[in-house]
Parts: sequence; structure tokens; C-alpha cells
Amino acid sequence: MGRPSDPGSLPLEPYRVKVVEAISCPSREARESALEAAGYNLFNLTSDQVYIDLLTDSGTSALSDRQWAAMMVGDETYAGSRNFARFVEVVRDLTGFPHIIPAHQGRAAENLLFSTLARPGTIVPNNMHFDTTRAHVLRNGAQAQNLAVREAYDPESPAPFKGNMDVGKLAALLEGSSGKVPLVMMTLTNNTGGGQPASLENLRAVSEVCHRHRIPLYLDMCRWAENAYFIRERETGQGARSIREIGRDLFALADGATMSAKKDGLVNIGGFVATRDAALADRLKEALIVFEGFPTYGGLARRDLEAMAVGLLEATDLDYLSHRVAQVRFLADRLKAAGVPFFEPVGGHGVYLDVRRFLPNLSRDDLPGQALAVEIYREGGVRTVEVGSVMFGDGESPNNGESPLELVRLAIPRRVYSASHLAYAADAVIRVYQRRSSVGGLRMVHAPEHLRHFTARFAPK
Ligand SMILES: *Cc1c(COP(=O)(O)O)cnc(C)c1O
Repeated sequence: MGRPSDPGSLPLEPYRVKVVEAISCPSREARESALEAAGYNLFNLTSDQVYIDLLTDSGTSALSDRQWAAMMVGDETYAGSRNFARFVEVVRDLTGFPHIIPAHQGRAAENLLFSTLARPGTIVPNNMHFDTTRAHVLRNGAQAQNLAVREAYDPESPAPFKGNMDVGKLAALLEGSSGKVPLVMMTLTNNTGGGQPASLENLRAVSEVCHRHRIPLYLDMCRWAENAYFIRERETGQGARSIREIGRDLFALADGATMSAKKDGLVNIGGFVATRDAALADRLKEALIVFEGFPTYGGLARRDLEAMAVGLLEATDLDYLSHRVAQVRFLADRLKAAGVPFFEPVGGHGVYLDVRRFLPNLSRDDLPGQALAVEIYREGGVRTVEVGSVMFGDGESPNNGESPLELVRLAIPRRVYSASHLAYAADAVIRVYQRRSSVGGLRMVHAPEHLRHFTARFAPK
């Protein structure tokens, strides 16, 4: 049964612990010197320098006993492994897409799709491009356009589906230049914009506009089960349906999808592209063989395909999803009680601090999101990530390096941390908030050209 999530109530785990991994908090001096050595980029920290790691929910899930058992039946045949057959059966059953092309992670799936479909002069619309998606669109010479609804950019709007696409803007774009649009994408949930869901109703309208112009609609389905959970919770008439039923409706509206199974596939590595288009599937497989490997393993060990097949199903379990969302709300409730500003309503995989309200004294040139992430690590050994001008302001973006949102994400890994871990992380953020006027800005001293947030280096101003 789902758990009630009254404000402040403990998220009750629908699992118990079978294996443990030791963690400890480095001393304040150790954290200070780690920051300096890392060039104030938290991607450069090692795991033993971090106590609670909320950098990402990607590939950081704890596997279930059933997934570990599944790995033991890995059939490491180069071609035609039985694990591939089982993996394809599960993905076809969940999505209804006939052609399934495995890849080692989401961006590998994106590489296959965009290197095949995107060309210079073309435009790819999305509710909001995730960083790697945008990088693949740009790398292939196309333009990446974000067409999310206006509320998606307002951290204080309580709208239930801030991941929706602005259908009017999409229709206008397709009226004018449908010949230039090889595909339309919808990211479920909208990771860049606070992990917000899109509604079934919105997806129906997007699908209708795309198909009127004979343009295929692809889903970035990384967090589709979390998105379906919010549809079940918030959309009229959906409350009694299962996640898989809602999923089948979502996928029926699309022509294909890319997936990082490191999110709602509950694995440490894995992904795929799925499509209804047989001719496209053949082209994707040609690219697959060059970049990833033979079509029955796609850059993965066959045991990984088996673990992914089990994880994709476990991620649709209502007890699991209720607990996951309750964890996010538990963290958010503690922050809210102390007045910490964050993107509302909270989404499915983490809390996104609203940096402009958290650090109003810092300007965009102070890289306030990065400065806040650094300060939270300094305070408690808690690692988070900037989702703002460092990640999106590299001058390749359509808005000249100005990120419309300035956020710091506390992403919650799946089935990993307890409520006390989350309470500890919340308290570290709260202490920084209470002394926020003492937080100084940063400047970038090394700025790589692509996906710079991963490797940039910073210094205090
Ligand atoms: C993580 C993610 C990707 C890329 O997947 P990787 O497995 O990290 O390569 C693409 N889109 C979204 C929305 C994501 O969250």
C-alpha cells in the first residue's frame, strides 16, 4: 500500500537492509583541503571525501536481491544472449515499442538517435533539454529549443505539471518550419526544471500537433515511472490506475524513446533507444555497432541487461515509488520549516534549491549556484550539484549564456539513504541558509568548451 505523506512524517522504507557499505564524514579541515584540490568543482571529489552524496540519482541505486540474483544468470554470449531476449521482452511489454536497441547509458542512446536524425540547420524542440541531450543536438549541428510552459521557469508557481510543453509555441514552430524539425522530444520528468512531471493531457496535445505535421515524437523516458506516479496522484481519473497502465498510455502517444536505465531502471549502468520505425531501427543498429557493440548487447555485459530487465519492473512498484516521493517530500518539509527557498512543488528525484532567493546578494557573475554547492559541502560533507549558469551558461545556449533558472539539486539516490541521512543533509543546508550573508562568490579559472560543469575549475573571488 502507498504510505501517507503528511508533512514531517517519516518515509517508511518498503525494504530492509541486507548488505551495508561504510561511510564517514571527513573533518572540516579535510573538507577544506579537498575543495581546494578539487578546484571547487564537486565532480572532482573522491567518494571518501563525501559523507552524504546527493550529486546525482544516476547509476547510484542500490540493487535489489533479485537484481543481484539476475546477474548470476548472465549468459555472456556475444550474439543472441538469452538475457537480451528477456530485456527486450520487458521493454516491449512496458512501452509497446517494437524495436529495442540497447546502449550503455542514456547519452549513448542519445548519440545513436541524434547522430542519425539531427543535421545542421535542423531544430529539435523539447520541453527542456537535459545537458547531455542538448550537447548531442548541438554536436550534430542542430538547434536545441526549449518550449516548456511558462510556469516551468517560476520556482514559486504551485502548478501540478510544470514539465508540460507549451503546445501553442510548439504548434507555431511547426507551422513555420516543420520541414526543419526531425523529431520532437519530451523529457519525463523534466530534470533540468526541477524534476517536474508532464501530464497525460499535455502529452496527448503534443502528440496530436506532432502527428498533424508528420513529425515523430520521442520521449526522454529516464524518469517515466516517477512521472506516471505524479499523473496517478494529480490528474483527473488516474488515481486508481497502475503505473504500468499509465505508462502504456504515455508510450502509445509517442513514436519512440531514449532511456537512461540508471534512473528508473534501477541499475548502475544501462540504457536503450526504442522506436516504432523499422527503417530507423536498422540505421540505429548500424551506428550501434560502430559506437557501442553488437545489437544484442549494446555496450553492456549481458548480466547488466538481465539486471536492467528486473530493475525496470521494480521501478513501477507503487510501494517503492510512494516511498521515493515521500523521501523527497521529507527532505523538502525540513527545509521549508526553516524557510529555505526551493523549487516548488518538489519533483520526483530530489529537491532543487532556488539560488536566487537563497543568495540574493550574489550576482550571476559570482556563479551563485556553484558557490552554494561548495558551501553545503564545506558545511557538512554533503555533495550536491549546480543546475544553473555553470551547467547551461556556456554561450552555446539559445539565451546567450543566461540560464533561466539558478538551482542547486539535492538528488536522492534510489533505495540508498535513510531518513536520518536526509535529515542530516537538510540540517547542513539549513545552517548554510542561516549564515547565508557570509557566502562569497566564485570565478571560473578553467572553462572547457562542452559540458563544462564536469571539468571546470573555480577559485574564490
Ligand atoms: C541522466 C539523463 C540523461 C543521460 O543519461 P546518462 O545515463 O547519464 O548518459 C538524459 N536525459 C535525462 C533527462 C537525464 O536525466
